[in-house]
Amino acid sequence: MATTNSNAIQRICILGGGTAGWMTAAALSKVLGDRSIQIELVESESIGTVSVGEATIPQIRAFNHLLGLDEMDFMRHTQGTFKLGIEFIDWHKPGTAYLHPFGPYGANMAGVPFHHYWLKDGRQHPLESYCLEAMAARAGKFIPAVERSGAPAKQVNYAFHFDAVAYAAYLRKFAEQRGVKRSEGRMQHAVLHPVTGFVQALILQNGQKIEADLFIDCSGFKGLIIEKALHSGFEDWSHWLPCDRAIAQPCALTEPAKPYTQSIAQSAGWQWRIPLQNRVGNGHVYSSHYVDDDKALQVLHNTMLAKPEAEPNYLRWQTGRRREPWKKNCIAIGLSAGFLEPLESTGIQLIQSAISRLLSLFPDKSFAEETIDTFNRYSAFEMERIRDFIILHYKVNERDDSDFWRYCRSMKVPDSLEDKIKLYQRSGRIFRENNELFSDISWLSVLNGQGIIPESYHPLADQLPDDKLQMQLSSLQKQVQDTVAVMPAQADFIAQYCKAI
Ligand code: FAD
Repeated sequence: MATTNSNAIQRICILGGGTAGWMTAAALSKVLGDRSIQIELVESESIGTVSVGEATIPQIRAFNHLLGLDEMDFMRHTQGTFKLGIEFIDWHKPGTAYLHPFGPYGANMAGVPFHHYWLKDGRQHPLESYCLEAMAARAGKFIPAVERSGAPAKQVNYAFHFDAVAYAAYLRKFAEQRGVKRSEGRMQHAVLHPVTGFVQALILQNGQKIEADLFIDCSGFKGLIIEKALHSGFEDWSHWLPCDRAIAQPCALTEPAKPYTQSIAQSAGWQWRIPLQNRVGNGHVYSSHYVDDDKALQVLHNTMLAKPEAEPNYLRWQTGRRREPWKKNCIAIGLSAGFLEPLESTGIQLIQSAISRLLSLFPDKSFAEETIDTFNRYSAFEMERIRDFIILHYKVNERDDSDFWRYCRSMKVPDSLEDKIKLYQRSGRIFRENNELFSDISWLSVLNGQGIIPESYHPLADQLPDDKLQMQLSSLQKQVQDTVAVMPAQADFIAQYCKAI
């Protein structure tokens, strides 16, 4: 006979209606969608959202797929463009540029990763020339899959650039249609159980009391429940990632949108350029220790491709992670769970993976300790590994134009990162641990792009005779060129399938 859990969660309250709040509401309403669980989202229009977060990584497609979104419809509603990778300009040293593409380089040959053959060949041709996504990006081309006669279609690995405010609004509509109740109001404080310390209710400024079994804190940097009420604690990483501010400001689109994000190193940080259908999102991420706000704005304006179209949006943060993103009956998702600068567009991904962890560890009212510990352990691992990947971009530089870059080059980095750098330096090897977010393709792009040349390569690569190696390398490059040649320009693809409405 079927039984039901009398301890089941019946009410969920989400505090905050930024990207994190509405992504969480949309996913929960879809997956728990039988309406036996009430979901209420509280947000305050007078406080607003950070209103940034326009570049994503390919995993977002899995999230959209989970919701069952029509990709072209979502693109039309969010001024979306396609993203095949990120270009890092002047990061290694002024005058250099490389891509971190979303697709693989070449193909494994006899079980040995491709780049060992490329190393054996003396790095004669740019790594990019073996990657479809990189070459398509450079050519301004895009299509989700390329038809090939007599062979299966070649899938392209891509993500999106979009208007973050429009994305949250799109998800809000989705969630409300599936029964999520939205309440407007400003939370004043949380009521905790006097003995257990569990959150019982949120009290809003208008006196309204919102009770729930499970609270999801999507209130942004402040972490109103997880930190202000539950004192989860914060692990500060700013000694490794000294940028602590950004100024964001859009400008007009003056050329066809590139199908990739650009990141341009500056003397005390870096600048992003994210092309949407109707504008370019720009932002300068910098360290307040090395440059003040006025100078930082000037730097941003000097490198913008057109005049600003809105007032500058000033943002400040502390880099690091919440020690216990799940504490008692509250789970922090989004900026409330910690923050890593947007260099590799991981903010939305962290929201998405926290939601999927929550779904697989969905609790009942007993809130078993093992469940909470597991969630927290995996959250920590995920963020630490992304942190290492971001630090890599700063650490391995040959810039000598400012104290900021000299500091980054000389700083002591986490052992986990130091080991990875050494392994690559000595043997060209990259090892992906425990399904960490960034794959060997990503690590290779940045290790190589930042100028590390390995001392050796995989010994098994020598088993391929030189003449065969030459043939295979040329053939791989030709395949990439031929495929790019038949792809449409991104502008044409968008005009045909997903022009904004
Ligand atoms: P917020 O957007 O701050 O939302 C907080 C919500 O809580 C709001 O609705 C607010 O009204 C509500 N709230 C706050 N206080 C109260 C209260 N007292 N009562 C009621 N409601 C309240 N991520 C990417 O993936 N790609 C990027 O390119 C990217 N770029 C970024 C650039 C910068 C400079 C920054 C700072 C972040 C970037 N991110 C990026 C991260 C991304 O913006 C965030 O992960 C995402 O927007 C989630 O924010 P949030 O919903 O957690 O917080």
